Amino acid sequence: MNKIETLKRVAENAGCLVLKDEPMSRHTTFQIGGPADLFIAVKDIIALKDIVRAAGSLGVRLLPLGNGSNVLVSDAGVRGAVLSLTGDFRKITLSDPTTIACGAGATLAGLCKFAQRNALTGLEFAWGIPGSVGGAAFMNAGAFEGQLSDVLVSTTHVTRTGKTDSLLGPEMEMDYRKSAYQKNGCIITSVVVRLEPGNAEQISLVMDDYFNRRKERQPLEMPSAGSVFKRPDGMYAGALIEQAGLKGTQVGGAMVSEKHAGFIVNTGGATCEDVLKLIDQIQKTVFKKSGVRLECEIRPIS
Ligand SMILES: Cc1cc2nc3c(=O)[nH]c(=O)nc-3n(C[C@H](O)[C@H](O)[C@H](O)COP(=O)(O)OP(=O)(O)OC[C@H]3O[C@@H](n4cnc5c(N)ncnc54)[C@H](O)[C@@H]3O)c2cc1C
Repeated sequence: MNKIETLKRVAENAGCLVLKDEPMSRHTTFQIGGPADLFIAVKDIIALKDIVRAAGSLGVRLLPLGNGSNVLVSDAGVRGAVLSLTGDFRKITLSDPTTIACGAGATLAGLCKFAQRNALTGLEFAWGIPGSVGGAAFMNAGAFEGQLSDVLVSTTHVTRTGKTDSLLGPEMEMDYRKSAYQKNGCIITSVVVRLEPGNAEQISLVMDDYFNRRKERQPLEMPSAGSVFKRPDGMYAGALIEQAGLKGTQVGGAMVSEKHAGFIVNTGGATCEDVLKLIDQIQKTVFKKSGVRLECEIRPIS
């Protein structure tokens, strides 16, 4: 039996749903990406540890995936196993009147709604970010002057050797779209956020306002991975791209959005190669016109 078959057996014995050669275009908001050798829906921490240990000894690469809303997966797909955190990892509970413990597989939308229902303020900025809580902690997702690190107290994870550990406060090394998890290779399993008491109706109004502003400005009707580039210091990537005359520029099925130049949209049948070529063209043109080097926010995966 080869390594992939062996890991598949381990995951199935741990009660997980396992798909072979699963197209990643089905699991990314870009709707781009070739097949993953294995796609494993992991339901609890015992199964996760079994899989991590087995993958470690077999030498099979593991890729935790949230909602696939910030990744660009290669057309050749992913060699190894993509892990999706389901079941127990989607639980959200109130640990004290202002503190929420949330599984990494829960959606950020679910966490925002939970906070609103409990009249807790501080997460409104995240309403409309289409990620999982694990992906949001990994990326330190943010919008409208807020970011997850503003409310994040700690994270729990499984290490590459299959042990449970956690990071508290500064140990998480949160910065603009950065966290320690981008270096340490651990799988985030849950987070703790601390909010402030607020008014549920008022929180709801702020969330609606932020969502409406997104709808006005962003091409939400087309597949994308959100803003392609990080915000350069004191500037907006979208504005630089627009000023460089690149709105509507197309490579294959990938196009610089007419609505928001910071987004690349999949107009139908775009490949990873199309998007990478378009990114390269944008970076070169913007640098030539403004001297600014745009850095990718989306994460290429091969
Ligand atoms: C329309 C649209 C609007 C968006 N708007 C915003 C915005 O306003 N602000 C913003 O910050 N982002 C925005 N994004 C980008 C994206 O939604 C965020 O970065 C989000 O936090 C990514 O979460 P995810 O679960 O989809 O992560 P994924 O795309 O699945 O993964 C992103 C990275 O995190 C890693 N990862 C995921 N889960 C785990 C885990 N449990 N443990 C360890 N690593 C993990 C993955 O391996 C990958 O490297 C937008 C995207 C879209 C499509």
